[in-house]
Amino acid sequence: MEQNKKQERYTKETLKFMIKTAWQKRPSLFGIYLIMFVAQLMQKVQIVILPKFLMDEIVLIVTGAPVKEHLGTVLFYVGLICGINLVANLLNNVASQAQSVMQEWFDEYFQELLAEHAMKLDFEYTEDPEALNQLNLAKEGIAWYSGGVVGILTSLYNMVSSITVILGVSVVILLTCPLLLPIQIAGLFLIAFFNAKNNAIEIESYNGLAKLNRVFSYVMFQLVDFSYGKDTRLYDSAEMMCEKADRGTEDMGKIWLTTSRRQCKCVWGMDVTNALRDGLSYFYIGYLAVKRVISVGDFTMCVTAASELYQGMGGIVTGWQEIVKRCNYAHQFLKFLEYPVALCKGDKAVKEGEHVIEFEHVSFRYPRSEEFVLKDINLKIASGEHLSVVGLNGAGKTTFIKLLCRLYDVTEGRILIDGVDIREYTEEEYRKLFSVVFQDFKLFAFSLKENIAFSDEISDEEIDKVLKLSGLYEDAKKLPKGYDTMLYKSFDEQGTELSGGQQQKTAISRALYKDAPIVILDEPTAALDPVAEYDIYRHFDTLVGNKTAIYISHRLSSCKFCHRIAVFADKTIKEYGTHDELIKIPEGIYAGMFEAQAQYFVSAV
Ligand code: ADP
Repeated sequence: MEQNKKQERYTKETLKFMIKTAWQKRPSLFGIYLIMFVAQLMQKVQIVILPKFLMDEIVLIVTGAPVKEHLGTVLFYVGLICGINLVANLLNNVASQAQSVMQEWFDEYFQELLAEHAMKLDFEYTEDPEALNQLNLAKEGIAWYSGGVVGILTSLYNMVSSITVILGVSVVILLTCPLLLPIQIAGLFLIAFFNAKNNAIEIESYNGLAKLNRVFSYVMFQLVDFSYGKDTRLYDSAEMMCEKADRGTEDMGKIWLTTSRRQCKCVWGMDVTNALRDGLSYFYIGYLAVKRVISVGDFTMCVTAASELYQGMGGIVTGWQEIVKRCNYAHQFLKFLEYPVALCKGDKAVKEGEHVIEFEHVSFRYPRSEEFVLKDINLKIASGEHLSVVGLNGAGKTTFIKLLCRLYDVTEGRILIDGVDIREYTEEEYRKLFSVVFQDFKLFAFSLKENIAFSDEISDEEIDKVLKLSGLYEDAKKLPKGYDTMLYKSFDEQGTELSGGQQQKTAISRALYKDAPIVILDEPTAALDPVAEYDIYRHFDTLVGNKTAIYISHRLSSCKFCHRIAVFADKTIKEYGTHDELIKIPEGIYAGMFEAQAQYFVSAV
């Protein structure tokens, strides 16, 4: 009951959305349905009514009427039947071609809409399995399973045209062989019952398949993704990946098998009903013809009318079920579009000039996690200050940055910028404050220039400036198409594969180009060679200038370049001060780590 109500609501909402989208984006789609409707009416007249007149004329000739008198009429009906058929087919062909073009257009439109929404979604959902599942349901629901706008509106059109056909042929039947109507209706109810069961089984298995599909697509994608080529080969991971893919195929096969076994019973039910209904109908019309209650022409007309009535009624029921099914699939797309906002949005503008950052008793645990990863963080970063953040792996350094960038909201306490809780700022304004290079930054298969500026309308001089700062200038000048060289070979054979260090420098260039007042570098030198690393340290002041900078690094020698150091341990900031202060703390964490690294470097030398 609850499920039915839900389905009804989803159907209504989706239908409204689809009709509105079609009307706003491609109103000519409704013109296509009008053409199809006219062609359909012509075909029904040609199939149901005209053969009766032709048949009656032929029977007259066969039973001895003068051929000369009736031949002209026979030829007229033959011509009319052929002519109507031809025009109707032509109209249908034009309409179906136009429909395919529309389908393509809407497919792309929805894909773009989905991608746009996925990119705007609050960050926390990108790490949320439920949201990822919903994205997959939306992607598949709007395309394959529902057929999108065209699929759903065509089902709706089929239903409307079926209603028109039913009204027409019902009049014909009532006037010639009225008992045919209850026989067909009874048959139809039974078919509808089996069909509804069939659809329910299909929807159930679709929901079960969604998660498997996500895992399967991920594995298949990784298997053919060249950028994983080195890891796949060197770690011999292909076998494990193939095994996962096999297991996925096997699990999906099991679901399909159970589904088709359950569906079999429904299909048999439909077959038996069809046979019974046809037998009874023929018996009844044949009886009327033998008793000469109806003519031979009427007999043919009743047979085709019965078949049209059945098809029409079936068209309404299955059409409606089809609409409900398609709308329920497509509703996953609407659900994704309405994915709730994870972070509350403020409306304050960020003031110009210097910015002071404050963490006040900040504690945080990830959504769906019981354990706090940060506890009672208190910290003030003055404008222009360079802060180094250190700590062992998993100490919460990156999480600290994610909170500052407001990719997640704090669980307790608050973060202030210029004395205002960051939750009160508008998202766009707030994000403009930061240039961040994350440890797991991503470059795209676009040109170098586009990877830095996210636009190709930028002068080479502007790019020169940031590349010189990040140390990539010399290498970039040697690229075959300069700054227009594509990264990776996905779209261009001449595309370049940058080394780890070059990629990192590209990411740093991107951050510098953004020119935001607060620069955050999360282990920016991890992939750099010692010379490049030293270069980054040496030029750190030039790199970030007077901007506020937060610098996460494992190499403690880099901390000397920063004004202050925050040492993260046991989920909080355990030590805080300048290098000279921290190094003097007896048994101190920083002093210990510094000592260990210094020894390593000394012994390595
Ligand atoms: P660090 O940058 O110091 O290495 P992180 O901030 O990445 O540490 O991680 C701190 C803790 O938070 C770790 O225990 C890590 O497993 C956990 N963590 C990181 N990201 C997530 C996430 N998206 N969901 C749940 N836990 C997470």
